[in-house]
Parts: sequence; structure tokens; C-alpha cells
Amino acid sequence: MNLSGKKILVVGVARTGVAVCHFLVKQGAEVTITDMKQGAALEPFLTQLDGLKLQMELGCHKVESFLAADYIVVSPGVPMDIQPLQMARAANRPIISEIELASWFITEPIIAITGTNGKTTTTTLTGEICRKAGFATFVGGNIGNPLIELVDSQEKVERVVVELSSFQLEAIDRFRPKVAVLLNITEDHLDRYRSYQEYIDAKVRIFMNQTSDDYALLNLDDPLVAALAGSMKGRVVWMSQCRELEQGIFHKDGTIVFRWDGREEVISTAAFRIKGVHNTENIMASLAAAMLTGCPAALAQKGVEEFRGLPHRMELVREVNGVGWYEDSKATNVGSVEKALASFNDITWIAGGKDKGGSYLPLANLVKERVRCMILIGEAKERIAHELGEYAETRMAATLEEAVNLAAAVTVPGGVVLFSPACSSFDMFRDYEDRAEQFKALVRGIPEAGTR
Ligand code: ADP
Repeated sequence: MNLSGKKILVVGVARTGVAVCHFLVKQGAEVTITDMKQGAALEPFLTQLDGLKLQMELGCHKVESFLAADYIVVSPGVPMDIQPLQMARAANRPIISEIELASWFITEPIIAITGTNGKTTTTTLTGEICRKAGFATFVGGNIGNPLIELVDSQEKVERVVVELSSFQLEAIDRFRPKVAVLLNITEDHLDRYRSYQEYIDAKVRIFMNQTSDDYALLNLDDPLVAALAGSMKGRVVWMSQCRELEQGIFHKDGTIVFRWDGREEVISTAAFRIKGVHNTENIMASLAAAMLTGCPAALAQKGVEEFRGLPHRMELVREVNGVGWYEDSKATNVGSVEKALASFNDITWIAGGKDKGGSYLPLANLVKERVRCMILIGEAKERIAHELGEYAETRMAATLEEAVNLAAAVTVPGGVVLFSPACSSFDMFRDYEDRAEQFKALVRGIPEAGTR
């Protein structure tokens, strides 16, 4: 693909936009970068563009630049329905994501992973397994490092593992992964989509360019995902925790069995360190994706055994006064909280934050069965109380500190306190990591009984 002399508009000045500009300028493209923001917010990124030959349009979007572009490359944070993009679409200007652009220059097998929850865990683990098997591996995408950085660096790799959000998938055109994984679909991001169906449609695009040489890895235990099988053009590889399969990957009696085209591998889970039903899902997906692209089973098993999981995903912070305190700040939607609540009994559940527009009612049964006390914070607290208040004792807290103090007071030894917010963090915190760190600091400060 020759981009020399092409007029390319990059929308969004942040890590992805900067990386795209560096690559495009080297390719000889005529690059313009635009962002609605300007000034201090962009400063750290603008300094990285110093010396690059490009135009900048900051503080506004100029429609004429959108209409004149040969390609428009949108960064993941930019909503696809902003007016200049709508106008560009109407004028048939190609609008692509950085993932699409990067994929034009990648020849190695791509393992692409999406789903509402578990993407980062599965992507990281798949990358670790590929490396364990001796393949030089790039891990990137929505996880943090843009795929275009790989292309720009010209580093030689043998496997590419990418996490993809629904937003990135909205702007792909020819992107074709060798293995595409859809872990699960539950309601999320209804603040950015007009309907749940629109969100599902975006996720399913991961499969749209596959052929019978490729693999579509689908979770049979997720009814929405299972129902998609008929529309796949790649070979469907099922995974299940509930059913034994003739072909695919499944969980059985403490082992994970992979059966594919006459091959059978039995992998012991005894030495796995990451636990929980949700992680079994992530592990099965990673194992299958890695083995389908040439990783030997024994090394794949070792890769999982060495994986300790990622922070902020059901992480045990501390046991104090007979109570286990778990930080699950990354749980920003109902689907992830469902898995967290299902993992414990006698729960004091701290939840709330910025509402994303979905319903909390799918949690009703779990709250009724497993939650002793629900402590709510943030903008969403009234709505959560309204939908779930009848199923458990409900308290309100003005700050996270108040919530932690309340939890310490009401939770008896043997119980757990679970901070699994079901909401995003932007009402009270910088981001989910900031929220996590503040929670951990508060938990570390809880005095042991007798020392109060
Ligand atoms: P993502 O990148 O999709 O947000 P993460 O791996 O960062 O996924 O996990 C996000 C949240 O979802 C955490 O609270 C984690 O415990 C939970 N989680 C992880 N894997 C799954 C899964 N397969 N199903 C449901 N929840 C999950």
C-alpha cells in the first residue's frame, strides 16, 4: 500500500494519533491532525510531534479537511457520530481506525480479541503463551500500545495479539485476523451507542473479513455469542465450561481439553494461579487461540501457570479482622460484576460511579443470594438503589472513604468486602486506576481489631 502523497486527516491528538502521524509522515503522506481540544490538555502529545512535517487544526474540526481527505484515521476515543465524520461518510470519504491502517502492513498471523469483559486479561495471557512457545510476539491495541507502533518500528515479530474495543471495530474495512475471539457480550457503553444492538453489531465486525482459512473462536456458554455461529465465514471453534465438545475447547474435571481436527490435548489446571469462572473463560480462549496458531500444548500450559493476572481485576488487597477486601475497580459494567458477585458469599458490596445507561437488574438474584449489605457511591447511587435496593440492605456514602469505613463497620469476620463498581469512574476519580489506588490506600489504613 503506497500512501505517498495521499492527504490523510488524523482525528484525535493522543498516543494513537501521534503514533499514526509518525508513521504516515515517514510514508510520505500529506498529514493533518485535528482535535477539538487545544492548549495544556494536548501539550504532552504535541511535544511528541515536534519537527514532524504536518498541519495542525486544534480547538475545532474543519469540515473542509474532512471532505478533502483521501483517508480519515480516527482515534479510539473519538465518537463516530460527530458531525464532520457524518458529513465525510455522506461524501464517501474512507474513515478508518488505526487498527485498519496498521493491518495493511502486517503479514504475520493476527489474533484479535474482543468481548464486553476479559479482553485485557485474555490478550495479555495469549501474548504470554505465544512468547513462552518461543514466538517473538507483539501485544497491543486497546490494551494501550497502538498497533501502528509495531508497523512503524519495523520490528520483526512472528505473532501479533490485539485487544479490540467495539469503537475500534466500527472503523475497520479489510482487517482480517487469523483468529478472532469473541468472549462474551453483555450491556455496556449504552451512553455511546443508540441501542444495545448497535453495540453488538460493532463487536461482530471482528469476523466480517474472515475466510475458511481463519478461525472464529466463540463462547458457547454465552447465548448471544452462540447465536452468531451461523453467520461466520471462518471455521467456528467453540469453547465451553458446561459441555463436552467433539471439536473445540472445554473444561472437564479439573482439566481443559482441546480437540481439533483429530488432535486432542489435555491440559491440567491444577497449577493455574488465576481463578474464577470468568478466568477459565479467558484461559480457554487464550489456549485455543495460541494452539491454533502453532503453540505446543505443554508450553501453552506453562504459559498459563506462570501468569499471575492483572491488577484491579478482583485483586485481594488485604485480609484484616477476618475480612477479605477485594479491589475490582476495572468492573465498570454489569457483566463483570456478575462474575465477581458469583465468586463470593456474605458480601459487602461497594458499587456506584458514573452511570453508563444500562440496567442493573440482571444482578438482582445474585444480590439477593450473596450480598449482605450494599454501599453505594457516586452519580449512579440513586438508580442502583432504585433497581436493587429491595434485594439487600442498602446504605449510601458521600465519599469512597465513608464507604470503606461503613464496610469495615458492618462486615463480620468470614465475610468479604468487594469494590466492584458496575460504573465508570469519571464522576469522582481520574480513571479506574486512580479509583483503585484510592481504595487500596484506604483499605491499607484500616486498623486491626484491638489496635483501634
Ligand atoms: P476488559 O479489557 O474487557 O475490560 P479485563 O480483563 O480488563 O477486561 O477485566 C475487566 C473486568 O471484568 C474485571 O472486573 C474482571 O474481573 C472482569 N472479567 C475478566 N474476565 C471476564 C470474563 N471473561 N467475563 C466477565 N467478567 C470478566
